[in-house]
Amino acid sequence: MTRTEQAPPIRLQDYRPPDWLVDTVHLDVSLHPTASRVRARLALRPNSETGAPAPVVLDGDGLNLVSVSIDGVPLPKEAFVATPDRLTISQAPPGSFRLEIETLLDPAANTQLSGLYRSSGVYCTQCEAEGFRRITYFPDRPDVMAVYNTRIEADKAEAPVLLANGNLVAQSDLPNGRHFAEWHDPFPKPSYLFALVGGTLACVSDTFRTLSGREVALKIYVEPGKEHRCGYAMDSLKRAMAWDEQAFGREYDLDIFMIVAVSDFNMGAMENKGLNIFNDKYVLASAETATDGDFASIEAIIAHEYFHNWTGNRITCRDWFQLCLKEGLTVFRDQEFTADQRSRPVKRISDVRVLRGHQFVEDAGPLAHPVRPELYREINNFYTATVYEKGAEVVRMVKTLIGAEKFRKGMDLYFSRHDGQAATVEQFIRCFADVSDLDMPVFMRWYSQAGTPEVVASGTWDETGNTYRLDIAQAVPPTPNQPVKQPMLMPMALGLVGKDGRDLPLLLADGKTVERGVLTLSQPADTFVFADVGERPVLSLNRAFSAPIKLTANLSPADLSFLAAYDSDPFNRWQSVQVLALGILLADVRQTRAEATREDLIAAMAEILNDARLEPAFIAQALSLPGEADIAREIGSDIDPDAIFRARLALRSAIGQSLAGTLEEAYARMTENGAYSPDATSAGRRSLKNTCLDLLAADGNAEGTERAAQQYRAAGNMTDRIAALGTLSLHDTPQRAQAIEDFYGRYSSDPLIIDKWFALQASIPEAGTLDRVRALTTHAAFSLSNPNRVRSLIGAFAQGNLTQFNRADGRGYQFIADNVLALDEKNPQVAARLLSAFKSWRSLEAGRRAQAEAALRRVASASDLSRDVNDIAQRALADASDTAASS
Ligand SMILES: [Zn+2]
Repeated sequence: MTRTEQAPPIRLQDYRPPDWLVDTVHLDVSLHPTASRVRARLALRPNSETGAPAPVVLDGDGLNLVSVSIDGVPLPKEAFVATPDRLTISQAPPGSFRLEIETLLDPAANTQLSGLYRSSGVYCTQCEAEGFRRITYFPDRPDVMAVYNTRIEADKAEAPVLLANGNLVAQSDLPNGRHFAEWHDPFPKPSYLFALVGGTLACVSDTFRTLSGREVALKIYVEPGKEHRCGYAMDSLKRAMAWDEQAFGREYDLDIFMIVAVSDFNMGAMENKGLNIFNDKYVLASAETATDGDFASIEAIIAHEYFHNWTGNRITCRDWFQLCLKEGLTVFRDQEFTADQRSRPVKRISDVRVLRGHQFVEDAGPLAHPVRPELYREINNFYTATVYEKGAEVVRMVKTLIGAEKFRKGMDLYFSRHDGQAATVEQFIRCFADVSDLDMPVFMRWYSQAGTPEVVASGTWDETGNTYRLDIAQAVPPTPNQPVKQPMLMPMALGLVGKDGRDLPLLLADGKTVERGVLTLSQPADTFVFADVGERPVLSLNRAFSAPIKLTANLSPADLSFLAAYDSDPFNRWQSVQVLALGILLADVRQTRAEATREDLIAAMAEILNDARLEPAFIAQALSLPGEADIAREIGSDIDPDAIFRARLALRSAIGQSLAGTLEEAYARMTENGAYSPDATSAGRRSLKNTCLDLLAADGNAEGTERAAQQYRAAGNMTDRIAALGTLSLHDTPQRAQAIEDFYGRYSSDPLIIDKWFALQASIPEAGTLDRVRALTTHAAFSLSNPNRVRSLIGAFAQGNLTQFNRADGRGYQFIADNVLALDEKNPQVAARLLSAFKSWRSLEAGRRAQAEAALRRVASASDLSRDVNDIAQRALADASDTAASS
């Protein structure tokens, strides 16, 4: 593999079309654990766009070349230069020709899990972003789209199932116990969407009839014995297929759609054309093994990968800078799917929690980057919350700005105009500008400017004039390499809420209308004056989180309590409770006085808890405080994670004590004894029940603890059991020790459940946790080579346990640095992801900051670092003011 001190950066502005295009790829793969042979036949053609004849330069990564030939004639050694990372043919034939390349791979030794590798005896591939070059030499860039034909041969005993993209065209037995299968994918695709699978797999089958009446075979392949855990994934897939036809007019295009679950996987799942490969965590589920959260993730990720068939596969990205074109858009699509399948307000709230807890945090630290970065050293490090989650917010803003009808028109135009192409973000946004008055140049700043816009709003009612004046100012804070920002074009959905809780009409004094309740902001400061406002309204701004911003408005605790009780926008009901809570938490950490009191917050929560019209899942969200990372980000600098934890625990304890009676009632009311069903309504009831359980035990009282212990023992499903264990885990009691031991005993044979056991212990917010985690790294069920194990134990500690990762003595940082270095030799992608836990180190108080910096510098100075880890270390350490050096 390539290990360099500092890879040269790749820049968006340097993009050039490829010199050579590939019309067809014939792959002939003979599988063997340590010596798989790949013969690639590429139909190459000079790109007429680029003019002059150019040498053929193909990407490789650690390849072992056997032979090269052109139009059937072997090339003499002097006619090409081959290194593991590049194949150059300087004197290529003048026109089109056939290039044949044979390489030899060792899938068993591929611990990076990129390219062709083996996972528990199953051959599989992962080619996004740059894994195909680990299989054969190729112009491995998304704007080279080819038609693939794949023939796979293997020992039938070892790999009875042989799969690749497209439709099956031939299969047969061969002498000596061998057999083959041949697949043809008629849709031109970039190399990152190539996939093959070979192994012993069980298959669950179903069918789907498309809108136009075609029958599609649906197949989910899993480890034999796990077939009974595929039902929810299959059901989700069928619902996703139907939804995409109805919501976006998109029909599936091949005769077969396959999903394969593997246990060693760097990401969540991969949308390879017709052959999605999944982390088994996002396929397998049953009441006994999976939580409501797992079911919801499976539904969303199955849908996400399926939706990529149009947004990503049929229309792909011109280059990797455009990653958000497929990811932001597809996340938006999966969010909308879930909102339609479940509860729109609850989905919006949970997405905003993720956005604030991850993307806003990323945007506020040294790893901040625009939704479309302009420079990268390692593209694997840009599969981030910014590209995915903020990328989805940007698409959502387009819809809010131009309205649902024009948005659909713009999407239709995008699908018809760019089908079969490798497109750019400009081409995507152009489609909406063409069907509306969207100011495209100004809107494009969302793709180029990093940082979370900060918006300050102030409203005043003029009693004599019956007018309401709203002043809104915006600014985007500086981020690495971007000291100065321009104002953003953003949709601001609002309501002026009257005394009776109803929205007053929005009439602008200048006679303009407020379409769909949405104002458009685009200036550093905007002023709006509303006419005919006969009473003092309460301002409800950024409804449904119409823009992904940090908002400060001049709302009193009484205004917030009023909105929490009466706002017609459910998101802002929830948000008002969050603002009340945040004010109290920040004041507590800073040891100042909050404007709102605990009583204000608790009264607002009680009102929501007693509102029988509200869905339980929403109430659960309203009772849940902002997360620790979110609170830290609001504080901004000189952060002491212990103080944040203490403030949050104290407030949760106070809520639990003050509302004990009501919470107990709700707990009893939400408890069901019937059979488990993963549907959204039942999940919502469990969510409220377990929120009550947790608040009631927050202060560690004996009754609350015993209630949790009892629920743990009696639980009929994984949701209730793991929730009870989570509640118990916060206090060191005999019940906790018992439950942790019992849990392992019950589930020791199931790695996906043991992952929960690892994660739970790694998240315990107390000083003994680091030693516990260290000990668990030598547990028989743990392995540094399996990404799910690493993420559930070491990842959960680094990313999910703020007080213990950020221990004042620096041992948390040292432990993670040690593991990053150990992991880097095996799997640089997972190592780099782990190192990004340091993304907020600069905002810590001085003592921890020095400890974190020392750990980061130790990683950065290690020899033989991968490009992935080196890139994160360098960016994390780059001096924010030294903009030239880091570009
Ligand atoms: Zn995706």
